[in-house]
Amino acid sequence: MKTVFFDVDTQLDFLFPAGALYVPGAEDIVNTLGELTRFAAANEIQIISTADAHIENDVEFQLWKPHCVAGTAGQQKAANTLLSHSVVLGNVPGDLDAMRPRIRESSQIVLEKRAVDIFTNPNVGPLLELVNADRYVVYGVVTEICVQCAAFGLLERGARVELVSDASKALSIGEGQNVLARFEARGGIVTTAASAMKPPQL
Ligand SMILES: [Zn+2]
Repeated sequence: MKTVFFDVDTQLDFLFPAGALYVPGAEDIVNTLGELTRFAAANEIQIISTADAHIENDVEFQLWKPHCVAGTAGQQKAANTLLSHSVVLGNVPGDLDAMRPRIRESSQIVLEKRAVDIFTNPNVGPLLELVNADRYVVYGVVTEICVQCAAFGLLERGARVELVSDASKALSIGEGQNVLARFEARGGIVTTAASAMKPPQL
């Protein structure tokens, strides 16, 4: 069974109090994010990391405070979620084509987006076909928005999808719990980081 870790938006603007769109309490999951990242590296598990990469005055900023503008410090991923051999896959259709060999060899693919739903990036479909995982382990911020989009979108592709509850953070505890309940009702598996780092029980 091929496993891929799916790390959602673990960027400085979301994770830390000085960030532009800080998720209260998100710093509590940072150590666990690092453990998952190191585990993936040690076990040759690829990580797909989604990352907001906004332009200035992006349409999303009508709804949310400006955050994760490409090229700013806050747009960077937390250091312990980054592997040395990462490649960045942008938002432009066809970006994937020239990168196929590098993507196969990379321990981490940073997949950029300009909207909450990673599936708005036209390269996601071809990327998932290329990595061809049987099992996705999803975590990050925030549970009821970007993590939800990623987890449900992956479920629709028929893979086994696990959502790591103690490596994710919600803005609203109640909304986060609702997402986990609906995710399980759709066939997803809610797990913990400790369980996700063991061989899966079928
Ligand atoms: Zn955003």
